[in-house]
Amino acid sequence: MFLPAKMAFGTVAYFSMEIGLQPEIPTYSGGLGVLAGDTLRSAADLGVPMVGVTLLHRQGYMRQYLDAQGNQTESPEVWNPAEVLEPVPHSVTVTLEDRQVQIRAWRYVLRGTNGHAVPVYFLDTAVDGNSPFDQTITDNLYGGDQYYRLCQEVVLGIGGVALLRVLGYENHLIYHMNEGHSALLTLPLLERQVATAGSGFPTDQDIEAVRRHCVFTTHTPVPAGHDKFPWEIVRQVLGPGRTAFLEEARCCMQGSLNMTYLALRFSRYINGVAMRHGEISTGMFPGYPVNAITNGVHAATWTAPALAELYDRHIPEWRLDNFYLRYAIGIPLHEIQQAHLQAKQALLAVVRQRTGIELAEKTLTLGFARRATAYKRQDLLFTDLERLRWLAQQIGPFQIIYGGKAHPQDLGGKDMIRRVFAAAQALADAVPVVYLENYDMALGKLMCAGVDLWLNTPLRPQEASGTSGMKAALNGVPSFSVLDGWWIEGHVENVTGWSIGNSSYPPEDYTHDANSLYEKLERVILPLFYGRPERYAQVRRSTIALNGSFFNTQRMLSQYVMNAYEVQGRVLDRQPDD
Ligand SMILES: *Cc1c(COP(=O)(O)O)cnc(C)c1O
Repeated sequence: MFLPAKMAFGTVAYFSMEIGLQPEIPTYSGGLGVLAGDTLRSAADLGVPMVGVTLLHRQGYMRQYLDAQGNQTESPEVWNPAEVLEPVPHSVTVTLEDRQVQIRAWRYVLRGTNGHAVPVYFLDTAVDGNSPFDQTITDNLYGGDQYYRLCQEVVLGIGGVALLRVLGYENHLIYHMNEGHSALLTLPLLERQVATAGSGFPTDQDIEAVRRHCVFTTHTPVPAGHDKFPWEIVRQVLGPGRTAFLEEARCCMQGSLNMTYLALRFSRYINGVAMRHGEISTGMFPGYPVNAITNGVHAATWTAPALAELYDRHIPEWRLDNFYLRYAIGIPLHEIQQAHLQAKQALLAVVRQRTGIELAEKTLTLGFARRATAYKRQDLLFTDLERLRWLAQQIGPFQIIYGGKAHPQDLGGKDMIRRVFAAAQALADAVPVVYLENYDMALGKLMCAGVDLWLNTPLRPQEASGTSGMKAALNGVPSFSVLDGWWIEGHVENVTGWSIGNSSYPPEDYTHDANSLYEKLERVILPLFYGRPERYAQVRRSTIALNGSFFNTQRMLSQYVMNAYEVQGRVLDRQPDD
């Protein structure tokens, strides 16, 4: 890798409301958390000085149950932190209204390929002496009302800064806000700056001083994805003093505190998570230059055992340096086919165990797993059931494996799941469709590696990046996707997969996208898979070489170092007489 031996910046404090470290720590809901975990794993591998801060989420995200019609119900995914985390002796307090809320912390240590350690701290308010309500603040990820949510964000942002201080992290920390949930961390930084400068109220210089320490990554072009709190709730929770402070720093917009704007205002470097997402975000936030660093996935984590064993034999350097995946282009096709077959067998065995359904090993298998929500359009494939049936019977058989949870309050997402179930019933005679319950990191790994084609049909331009297609690519599984998010960059037709639709049609033209999907299945993908298996294997191989070698968090984190952290480091390290 091209990282400097000694990095010219202090430790990066990476704040994220959710972090996906391992399936046994259910404190993540989806892409944002998995990305956070992968980022920290790569920091450990690359020796980037980093520390993670998140909330404990004692109730987990949730366990999903689906009945025969696809109605989703949930229960807490209760877990025992003491089994996987180590308690930290330090504690801190934050003020909520007029209450002093105690926060303790738990630590998880990630170790990289060379042994470099990256600690992750989980904040926990279930402390004797806190009120019964306050003890629940760190229980539920994305649960509760706005009051609850703001309390959580105070604990994460303000409590997190306080914890790092008592743990002895130096002042030259770079604070990386992974999404706006942690933006309140800027408040104690500003208060400290104002106290040091002695001005009594925030000046432009004070704001500039805080900005030099902060980096912000925004993750969604969907406006509802950006947290906003009515000013009354802000005043109630933070108290009049801190609220006035935020007002003086001009953070009040249209009667509310917008966490995205708070993060934008106080960050020196701002980025979106794919090139197109950077452009869209620039349009959304006039006055703020939004850069782009495209997401990745942690290669060793997301590569199935059979493929990892293959890479270990042919390109053993790939674990330390993911660029070596480029040379997968020299691996014999039959070995790639063989490794993929093993990954497919592992997935089909789990399908059998969980559902009793026996899927055929030789049949083209499509995978679709992501958060169930309206814009992801889980049902686009089922626009014309007759045509789908005709394709399976006249051109070549195929089967589909679905997974994904809807947020408990996302009724549109729950409806999507029901529609997949209804289509599955209607197609039962021609196209096997299974929906696996309780999608999590373990199932994600099996699915992304074990299918033959990874399907993605979001409504443009709402998919900021998407990362499951990158996991598939690492395993030699091509994508079949609407050109949005990372796929705009990763797509090479017939080489890394296939596109669905094109941008000359309005995104809401579902029929156009559905037609394009059916036509490509009919004319290109099914004939290739059954008629020219060698050519299909070549697509697998070029997918690994072109996309596996690039869309990983090793490349991504190197870009954060070069573009976001290092530049910042130079500024921070500059001596007065430079
Ligand atoms: C990778 C992953 C995601 C994110 O997938 P997208 O393609 O970005 O939607 C969500 N959930 C789990 C469990 C994952 O492993």
